[in-house]
Amino acid sequence: MKEMVHQSVLEVVQGDITQQDTEAIGNAANSRLAGGGGVDGAIHRAGGPTIMADLRAKYTGCPTGSAVITGGGNLKAKYVLHAVGPIYSGSPKDAQLLSSAYRTCLELCTQHQISAIAFPSISTGVYGYPVEEASRVALKTVKDYLKGHPEIKLVRFVLFDSKTYSVYEEALKELTKTE
Ligand code: ADP
Repeated sequence: MKEMVHQSVLEVVQGDITQQDTEAIGNAANSRLAGGGGVDGAIHRAGGPTIMADLRAKYTGCPTGSAVITGGGNLKAKYVLHAVGPIYSGSPKDAQLLSSAYRTCLELCTQHQISAIAFPSISTGVYGYPVEEASRVALKTVKDYLKGHPEIKLVRFVLFDSKTYSVYEEALKELTKTE
């Protein structure tokens, strides 16, 4: 599913983030930038050891709600934006931190002249954020950013399983209806 947000494309697809040919992909990292399971592990495996070497050389960690940038190693994407989403707690702060993790990635895209990025569903795996809530926060954050930033031409959410994909698809439809 795809829609225009001003001059930019916002897309929701089912697939594997490691196979995307967008200039950048997002990663759901942890604050120690230590690698791990889930999408983080998949990205490091597919991209090879230079991504971790790049992280170690440049950063000692990353606060929750923020993101850092490295090269993409062997991935098709030239860059990886390692975003640290919140561990779900049920407090209103969760949404602020999740939104800020996505927004920091988009700001890094603007700074580095990256015009296309693919995101996984940050925080909705091991970090336990309910997909219904997280999808609304993610899509709203991206839409709001795109409205003021035509330099970003494409944002694609790449959802691994069909259930998560359906929830994002529904959230995008709802968001478009209520705007
Ligand atoms: P977090 O710790 O932020 O919750 P996880 O990696 O546990 O991150 O999960 C985030 C989401 O990424 C989950 O929906 C999971 O199914 C998904 N995921 C796992 N592997 C991939 C992949 N290769 N491509 C896209 N999404 C993936």
